[in-house]
Amino acid sequence: MYRMRLRNKPWAKEKLEQYPQVVIQRPEGLKGSWAASFFPDAPVHVEIGTGKGQFLCGMAQKHPDVLFVGIERMQSVIVSALDKTLETDAGNIKLVNRNAADLESFFDESEVERIYLNFSDPWPKNRHEKRRLTYRTFLEKFERVLTAKGEIHLKTDNAGFFEYSLQSMEQYGMNLLSVDWDVHENDVGDNVMTEYEEKFSRRGQKIMRGIARF
Ligand code: SAM
Repeated sequence: MYRMRLRNKPWAKEKLEQYPQVVIQRPEGLKGSWAASFFPDAPVHVEIGTGKGQFLCGMAQKHPDVLFVGIERMQSVIVSALDKTLETDAGNIKLVNRNAADLESFFDESEVERIYLNFSDPWPKNRHEKRRLTYRTFLEKFERVLTAKGEIHLKTDNAGFFEYSLQSMEQYGMNLLSVDWDVHENDVGDNVMTEYEEKFSRRGQKIMRGIARF
């Protein structure tokens, strides 16, 4: 189980509220109009469990033509993603401090072109299967908000969670477009590392990636 070191940050809520242009307070109000509101005609890419925002900010700089939305439920964590976003000064990053289980109230059908699941909590105990972000009830939500050719990009260091996710997606009827058991060995320069990815690869753990479409 991943354990994020959590510090109590009583000032986080106030800080998040100070930047309504970046931290979207009422994502329901943007349902169906994310691109039109901020970046007309841009594809919308969503990262679920954005953590401290390193991946989101790196991707936003690399792909200035894409609108990136990071969803993170922990206030004490997303506040670091806000700091990074402000430092990055990229206008194509929006943050949402909510549970991704409510994804369909934030995005309309076919509004999202890509979903990134980076180092999602693996929930290794069988009785917690329903909490895994690749459990079929989450896949149902992803299917509804993704465009017809939309993709899920999943990265993890956890082989058990990786295998489970590939199986769950296949069982759901998704097409696996690519399965890479060692992203760093095969990297052609397009990989943007997350915080967890840096930490685990420094310890010598292999990073895996799967790309799938409905
Ligand atoms: N993606 C980051 C990385 O790779 O460094 C953080 C990985 S961390 C293990 C998983 C993050 O997902 C945590 O910050 C957690 O709060 C967030 N998370 C887990 N389930 C979530 C959900 N249902 N909705 C929003 N965030 C979630």
